[in-house]
Amino acid sequence: MRYLILSDIHSNWEALQAVLQDAAGEYDAVLCCGDLVGYCADPNRVIDWCRSGLNAIVRGNHDKVVAGLDGLEWFNPVAQAASLWTRRELSADNLEYLTNLPRGPLTMEDFVLAHGAPIDEDEYLTDIHEARQAFNYVERPVTFIGHTHLQGGFRLETRHVERIQRPDPQTGALPIVVKPDAWYLFNPGSVGQPRDRDSRAAYAIYYPEERTVALRRVAYDIATAQAKIHRAGLPDSLAHRLASGR
Ligand code: ZN
Repeated sequence: MRYLILSDIHSNWEALQAVLQDAAGEYDAVLCCGDLVGYCADPNRVIDWCRSGLNAIVRGNHDKVVAGLDGLEWFNPVAQAASLWTRRELSADNLEYLTNLPRGPLTMEDFVLAHGAPIDEDEYLTDIHEARQAFNYVERPVTFIGHTHLQGGFRLETRHVERIQRPDPQTGALPIVVKPDAWYLFNPGSVGQPRDRDSRAAYAIYYPEERTVALRRVAYDIATAQAKIHRAGLPDSLAHRLASGR
């Protein structure tokens, strides 16, 4: 079995399409670490695809807020505007799908899917200290997380936690070997709104039998995604940040 791992698509149809094309033929199932919606302007198209295309998903904080399961008060004004717009835009079926997304962490056979920290879906795992805490709460050696929009993650080996760096934008990187005695929190990065200074869509492919994880990037049609954001009347900053990858 080969898994395509997506996270933080955020209604960016152009980025999702580019990822699916780039990974075509290289996976057997598609998994998602949450945040289908928010920020970009194609929520219905993205959810329409996800409803049939995803094999498993955990909900993200934006999915929760747009579905009305959580309040807007923790969001900044830009995220609030995008959430309200998305809620108005969604079809009844897609809103219902969003409302019923399962809460993570979701334990698959030999790995885990989560949105934020395994113990709290809204918590960001950004530094070594937070990652060390998080390893206390995972039930399998390999966990995939999202939420930060930063590709990479953390490795725990002989009680030492290290950061997994995103691949070099120029040279790319070989797949990461999953060592039998180490534990991992892998972040595939964000499909629809990368924030690690690389504007290309981010994703991962997990090969459990070969014990490897490939962190990958693909360029997509940013201009079209930006034009849709402008046309929808969403805040300009949401278009600008797609180009800067920040
Ligand atoms: Zn997100």
